[in-house]
Amino acid sequence: MAKTIVEDNIDILIAGAGLGGTGSAFEARYWGKDKNIVIAEKANIDRSGAVAQGLYAINCYMGTRFGENNPEDHVRYARIDLMGMVREDLLFDMARHVDSTVHQFEEWGLPIMRDPKSGSYLREGRWQIMIHGESYKPIVAEAAKKSADKVFNRICVTHLLMDDSKENRVAGAVGFNVRTGDYHVFKSKTVIVGAGGASNIFRPRSVGEGAGRVWYAPWSSGSAYGLMIGAGAKMTQMENRIVLARFKDGYGPVGAYFLHLKTYTQNCNGEEYESKWFPGLQKMVGKEYLDPEASHLTHRPIPTCLRNHALINEINAGRGPIHMVTMEAFQDPHLEEIGWHNFLGMTVGQAVLWAATDVNPKYENPELTTSEPYVMGSHATGSGAWCSGPEDVSPDEYFWGYNRMTTVEGLFGAGDAVGGTPHAFSSGSFTEGRLAAKAACKYIDDGKAEGISISQEQIDRRKAEIFKPMEHYKVFRNEIVAGDVNPNYINPRQGLDRLQKLMDEYAGGATVNYMTNDKLLHIGLKKLKLLEEDLEKVAAKDIHELLRAWELKHRHLASESVVQHTLFRKETRWPGYYYRGDALKLDDENWHVLTVSRRDPKTGEYTMEKAPCYHIVGDDEQSASEKDEQPASAEEGQPSSAEIA
Ligand code: AMP
Repeated sequence: MAKTIVEDNIDILIAGAGLGGTGSAFEARYWGKDKNIVIAEKANIDRSGAVAQGLYAINCYMGTRFGENNPEDHVRYARIDLMGMVREDLLFDMARHVDSTVHQFEEWGLPIMRDPKSGSYLREGRWQIMIHGESYKPIVAEAAKKSADKVFNRICVTHLLMDDSKENRVAGAVGFNVRTGDYHVFKSKTVIVGAGGASNIFRPRSVGEGAGRVWYAPWSSGSAYGLMIGAGAKMTQMENRIVLARFKDGYGPVGAYFLHLKTYTQNCNGEEYESKWFPGLQKMVGKEYLDPEASHLTHRPIPTCLRNHALINEINAGRGPIHMVTMEAFQDPHLEEIGWHNFLGMTVGQAVLWAATDVNPKYENPELTTSEPYVMGSHATGSGAWCSGPEDVSPDEYFWGYNRMTTVEGLFGAGDAVGGTPHAFSSGSFTEGRLAAKAACKYIDDGKAEGISISQEQIDRRKAEIFKPMEHYKVFRNEIVAGDVNPNYINPRQGLDRLQKLMDEYAGGATVNYMTNDKLLHIGLKKLKLLEEDLEKVAAKDIHELLRAWELKHRHLASESVVQHTLFRKETRWPGYYYRGDALKLDDENWHVLTVSRRDPKTGEYTMEKAPCYHIVGDDEQSASEKDEQPASAEEGQPSSAEIA
């Protein structure tokens, strides 16, 4: 029987310590000098989260100090890229603080490349700066470890604890140690969810010997969503899954190639193909969202999803594969080196794959393809919880007291957990963690967490629930009929295969060219319900499978939310991410809104609503040199160190 370990009197519990969680710990210590700060992390904080294997660029840096961009510019950019659907208050708030985060990273030892002439950071693109980032995560983790009172590594957090004395207030979390199997109870006044988005909910292109190689971290099990949906938090933009154009089979990133190496794409005949899809696409989405004439202006780029659309359609027209033209850039020894370093610093697998399959980008243009969809909130997509914004810029509908607090009292989010804030990337996620932690400290100081009580019944009930897959296995293991087949249960791998197949076929995955419709989504929901019933009987033969079982349950909750949201939004807002075959146009008249859902934790029933999509930042671009006329956002250099304004 698993040992129970109780950690009591926590002020701030951080569930998941990727970039969002580490930012939370760091800032919590600044505002909460005497607060008890505890981290629970599924892996080891030194190498966890999406940044675990390193990054070659920091994709969100304003450079206000160097007169490069204002936070408002970044809001405009993200808004265009997401076809209008963003939370501008949250984005602005992140953008006005993100530079100070990056400056701290440099102080802590992260090598950031500099332009020898200007002394400013070396830019890959307008927002991206280049780093030697193999050790990015250990460097950032060190700051978090020094800030926290305790770090619990190897804890899979499965559920949030709720206050038994006050409805809809968080009281901590529970989980188990993936090595010892001990049951862990964390009683806490606030919880900041810094867990990850979801890879592996749609069937990946990589199967068989390639299984496990996916674009987003394979260990990102949608726990940010599973935990918060399970606690009844409202979610937003969960339909806004992301599909990535990537180097084929290794999922190597393309940003440095497009932006820094100035490579470009062409079809199998060596022709430029993107522009020929734009007139038809413009009819689908309208000139406001796609104006190739204006796209030379950097604040009106071609949105990421629309670039995907051209790639997908060119392949469907029989002119695949799409190639990235590297042969020109790679003739320059410096660019050739950057091209390889880019992968070695963050996606070693792509370099290894090219080496193993005799692809030399100097002499051969490598293939690009589109990935399966992912659900996350920090790259070019904004899925996550419906959170309060900051007091000074948020309209009433977006503000309920504490920045980054979800609709559950005391429950905060950072990184992938927060909805409506795309293009935060690593630095923005850390910054969001800082903002959430500052607000969590205030929540406690305001006395909002007084009188929390957690019944023994709740703790015991969760324990029985968590370990049930192992009990189930013990009871029925002798009834295996062949191989892994047992009429009494499915194992986590079988459950995952089933989830991925149904999401792929019914919710718009890669094998159906990202196409879905009302009928398909309804069938998908029915199948998800049946899977939910069977997940009650998932069996785990050891602690490792128990981890997989809980990851699967979180992925299932995230998936159901994706399907509900996709069904609700009756339009095709992001061609190239997914298509509603029964509503193939963008429909601003009815759907220029954010979608918000809540799953009733008791009944499992969903309610959906539309929330206003406010445009707070004007259309006109001002240069950063005009910053004196800007609001506090564009202050010189932004607040330094931990001084979040
Ligand atoms: P990636 O390597 O695709 O993850 O992208 C890194 C950064 O480059 C992100 O900020 C992307 O939005 C951006 N990016 C990637 N491809 C392009 C492109 N073709 N045009 C403009 N920005 C891009």
